[in-house]
Amino acid sequence: MMLKNSKHFSDAKKVIPSGVNSPVRLFDPYPFFAKKSNGAYIWDEEDRKYVDFCNGYGALLLGHRRKEIIQAVSKQLTKGTLFCTPTSLETELSKLIIGNFPSIDKVRLMNTGGEATMTAIRLARGFTKKKKIIKFEGCYHGAHDSVLVKAGSGSAHQGISVSDGGLDEVSKNTLVVQYNNAEDLEKTIKKNNDVAGVIIEPILANMGLILPEKNFLSDVRKITKENNVPLIFDEVVTGFRVSTGGAQKHFGIKPDITTLAKALSNGFTISAVGGKKEIMDLLSPGGKVYQASTFAGNPIAVSAAISSIKTINKLKNKLYSKLEKYNLRFTRALDDIATDLKISHQINSAASMFQIFFTNKPVVDYESSVNADAKKFKKMFNMLLKNGVFIAPSQFEVVFLSDAHSQNDLNKTLDAYQIALKSVKN
Ligand SMILES: *Cc1c(COP(=O)(O)O)cnc(C)c1O
Repeated sequence: MMLKNSKHFSDAKKVIPSGVNSPVRLFDPYPFFAKKSNGAYIWDEEDRKYVDFCNGYGALLLGHRRKEIIQAVSKQLTKGTLFCTPTSLETELSKLIIGNFPSIDKVRLMNTGGEATMTAIRLARGFTKKKKIIKFEGCYHGAHDSVLVKAGSGSAHQGISVSDGGLDEVSKNTLVVQYNNAEDLEKTIKKNNDVAGVIIEPILANMGLILPEKNFLSDVRKITKENNVPLIFDEVVTGFRVSTGGAQKHFGIKPDITTLAKALSNGFTISAVGGKKEIMDLLSPGGKVYQASTFAGNPIAVSAAISSIKTINKLKNKLYSKLEKYNLRFTRALDDIATDLKISHQINSAASMFQIFFTNKPVVDYESSVNADAKKFKKMFNMLLKNGVFIAPSQFEVVFLSDAHSQNDLNKTLDAYQIALKSVKN
């Protein structure tokens, strides 16, 4: 017997807090329960089909169940899933990552983006022997204490600035400066002589989409270098999504430490921290910065990542220029629709990502993103869903295109947006 999504949700709520295993997955009146996926689509437990633009929050750059990756993982499944002794696969993957990211001399593999940023920050502190971390308002770097301060994503969605249970002793060592404001960064570094590192999303993809203004990132690089403060590029979203070498290749900037996760493996659990040799060699057991994980470098996730990077490297410009062209065409048409309907809006887009905000002011930082009309966004989200289009259920997330989206999928999606925007107007 087929159970309704509503029934699945009421069952889940009895055994899972709020019925979900990550906060943004919850939306009114209840989320749909996924049954399977393929290419550009997800099907729910009621056999309803959605064109997926959440795409694992950007992880699924190549689409659901991409053939090459499923083959690589299936092959590995017949050989073993967890050894906890080194494999040559880990060396192969590390070489691929280093080959794509010239700023990385050595890389350590782990499991989640949050784990990667936690390690990156610990490395910066271990390297400088200093305490404070500077982050930018609205940037999201995972759900641990030192970065869950004025963060984006689900914590912005819920209006949480510092989490209950988080220690003030930790968050007070995190200084927050305004995105797209290099002066604010410089002032803050000068005022504090104990800054261990600066962490930033080179393209802010957790307050909706916010682009770095011209020279902002190069100014950030210049200021951190002049003050001997390690710069961490959190490329958990942008790595492999913006280009084969992430946002740093696109903007031509070399950070000291880089974190990678989402699009690294096209849908498996893996992340990485990489950087300069002298920093990375501080990791235990050779160095004194401790990091460890049972599942780190497990052969399933590593096989997926190897296959994913090889596929991306093979497709290269064909993949990225196609996605950019599709995105540009789509966002232009969307802009026309919203303009014709006389809806105040902003569309920010880059590479294969975009977001629409309901406001008449340009969205360039935390403040301007928070001031956009979230009620309208919610209405639009619900209408899109009704019309078979799944985007992330928050204006603080991003719409992600994948290689699996056809021009036909995008045309149908545009029709759905037209209906949804009309409902927003009313
Ligand atoms: C998603 C995200 C993280 C956290 O990754 P998890 O795998 O969810 O822990 C960190 N940084 C950025 C920029 C992200 O978008």
